[in-house]
Amino acid sequence: MKKPGFLIIIAGPSGAGKGTVRKEIMKNKKLNLVFSISLTTRKIRKGEKNGVDYYFVSEKKFKDAIKNGDFLEYNNYVGHYYGTSKSQVEKARKSGKNVVLEIDVNGTKNVMKAFDKKDILSFFIVAPSIKELENRIRGRSTESPTDIKNRLKKAKEEMKLKNKFNYVIVNDSPIRASREITKIIKNALALRG
Ligand code: 5GP
Repeated sequence: MKKPGFLIIIAGPSGAGKGTVRKEIMKNKKLNLVFSISLTTRKIRKGEKNGVDYYFVSEKKFKDAIKNGDFLEYNNYVGHYYGTSKSQVEKARKSGKNVVLEIDVNGTKNVMKAFDKKDILSFFIVAPSIKELENRIRGRSTESPTDIKNRLKKAKEEMKLKNKFNYVIVNDSPIRASREITKIIKNALALRG
């Protein structure tokens, strides 16, 4: 039987650039990574693809999935639901793949409770400064003014919890940040054997 893969958590405030860094890391095929595609009730953004970035579902469908126990963890983040599919993660880990979860701090706490520490590698991605983070969130222009305000507030709350993570990574450049993370994952894989 194959050794179950790692759970690699990429978290951090909205606007820190988690998605870009994650996509960069996933280009390295040697790391044997697979992305856990979450379900969400938020609206699809321009450039996103259903079944690639998320599974975009109705609130009814999401709530049914909660009732069925389909989620490893889920959360309501500034008014929308987001959840990690239990079966997707279990299947991938069983086949030896290392599963990348791009989730919020609350979801991370729940994953940390449910799994052995040695199976988790957690990264908290931060922008070089709060000012830069604000610029990135505002500059994205994909959210409404209320959403932007809520995301900024949430970002500041999440920043306070960065020390719960194995590593805090400054995203001054996605390439540099992804190289730093890749190196850490490689070392962890080598140590695990
Ligand atoms: P966004 O709307 O910007 O794509 O995501 C909002 C927040 O929800 C981000 O911090 C993102 O990482 C988080 N998120 C995405 N999927 C999940 C999930 O399945 N569970 C949890 N707890 N958070 C998620």
